[in-house]
Amino acid sequence: MNEKKCPNCLGTMELSKTGRKWICPYCDTEIENDVKEANVDYQDGLPLNIFYLEKSMAEDNFKKDTKELLSSLKYCLNELKTPERIEAYMRKSMMNVDSVGADGMEGVNKELADVARARLAGELKPDERIILYTENGVFARRKEFNVITDQRCFFVNKKDYVQIKHKDIVEIKVGTSLGMPYWQLNGDYKQTITSNCTNYKLVGAIIAIICLLSFENDPDRERIRLV
Ligand SMILES: [Zn+2]
Repeated sequence: MNEKKCPNCLGTMELSKTGRKWICPYCDTEIENDVKEANVDYQDGLPLNIFYLEKSMAEDNFKKDTKELLSSLKYCLNELKTPERIEAYMRKSMMNVDSVGADGMEGVNKELADVARARLAGELKPDERIILYTENGVFARRKEFNVITDQRCFFVNKKDYVQIKHKDIVEIKVGTSLGMPYWQLNGDYKQTITSNCTNYKLVGAIIAIICLLSFENDPDRERIRLV
């Protein structure tokens, strides 16, 4: 089904790039689409409405840790499909990990969301929701961490922090450093999603959720380049 009439103005609605919403170009009315209706092409198991692949993302080209990360990413994008469902999945896979936290998440460390809130006071908007807090290694507890909200990612170190809005992610560099997979946002080494808790499934889920939120926060954006 490729045509839908706007219930408000009867204009012809357009499907958003992710296929998740119908948007009326005349009056901006939005309707959720049944994701199963979306007709999406894939390359190496990744959806091409979200990514532009400049290199192969087939699991066979990567070592064990990245393979685990990639299959989680693909599972999240292709089976779970929505940020809400991915968040529920993260909640399950994060149980018993004491270095992650989030707002209103059962079974994870709520205090850590408060650590982030205190450190980023004045920056976080009142209605901004912390989806995830992850520590950067065991030697920098409460001092170096990443925070993912519904709007952006923060990368906090002892002295300062950098941030990037999900909708501003144009490129992700996929690589390995010291045997650990990393996914670097917009070519900035300070903005790198690493496997800080060696939970590669979780890292895959993080990449999935920020990419989906990127399109949710800017439905007309260009595809994200994987390099
Ligand atoms: Zn309309």
